[in-house]
Amino acid sequence: MDKLNILCLMMALCAVIAACCAVWLYRRQMVKLMAQLGQMVDEAVNGSLDEHLFDESQLSAVEARLKQYLTQCAVSSQSLAKEKDKIKSLIADISHQTKTPIANILLYAQLLSEYELPETCKPCIQALTDQAEKLNFLISALVKMSRLETGIITVTPKPCQIEELLTAAIDQITPKAQEKQITLIQAASTKTMVLCDPKWTIEALYNVLDNAVKYAPPDSVVTMTIEPYKLFCRIDITDQGPGITEEEWSKIFSRFYRSPAVSDHEGVGIGLYLTREILSAQSGYIKVASQPQKGSTFSLFLPIKGE
Ligand code: ADP
Repeated sequence: MDKLNILCLMMALCAVIAACCAVWLYRRQMVKLMAQLGQMVDEAVNGSLDEHLFDESQLSAVEARLKQYLTQCAVSSQSLAKEKDKIKSLIADISHQTKTPIANILLYAQLLSEYELPETCKPCIQALTDQAEKLNFLISALVKMSRLETGIITVTPKPCQIEELLTAAIDQITPKAQEKQITLIQAASTKTMVLCDPKWTIEALYNVLDNAVKYAPPDSVVTMTIEPYKLFCRIDITDQGPGITEEEWSKIFSRFYRSPAVSDHEGVGIGLYLTREILSAQSGYIKVASQPQKGSTFSLFLPIKGE
């Protein structure tokens, strides 16, 4: 081998060694960079990120931008909390300020109805009473809905006997059912325990019962059954009302949806929305099975209290 060949070989060897060193150095730098970035993200997650790189490296720029982003996040979550507080006091104000005038309208309407007035006044007084009652219902429903949505009301599940809650809801609906001669039938007794917030669950059950009574024809029957499964307890409420088409099954749980078929009944379309929100806040759910002209069954599922 002549000198030239040896020189070329040595140069190639040097080049390979230099390339290996460069790759090794690059990898080392990358590992270090990744470790620093990882540490930065950890600090950001813990809320303890502080700028400690003040050079002109790219890492320093990333650190500054991350810090800026976190500061903006903190500011927006503070203003979100402030907004929530404002909504909270607004809701409290609305419900407080409207309670007395509505109660007064109802009271004066009742006083008027007790006077001997011309016959033509009676429909006006009745309309006044009906509208005030509707306003009362609407405001309390809106207050409940926004309290749930803004997280002002927290649903606190605890062990409850489901039958007791159903009985409480039935007690509330009985006067309306009696007005329409609707028979409420509660199937065999059960001691099943569920995990739920009693006040809100009674509200959910009442909403479904209220619809059953409202939409079913007079002299019909509303049946309630309780069936415990392994994880959930199922409460079925079945009426003999007008039924709901399959296309509407999912729509009826959205806010303000009302089927055109029930336009002659009073309502605002938030009862089922609220019911679904209440159930999902306590890990439950609601389903409907129905056929037009054949009645509807609403099934409410609540988590069973384990051993
Ligand atoms: P509202 O009864 O005030 O309209 P809901 O949210 O309680 O509001 O119900 C939404 C819609 O679902 C009703 O407007 C009606 O079209 C339908 N619906 C609910 N329950 C029944 C029922 N038991 N039978 C027939 N339709 C029902």
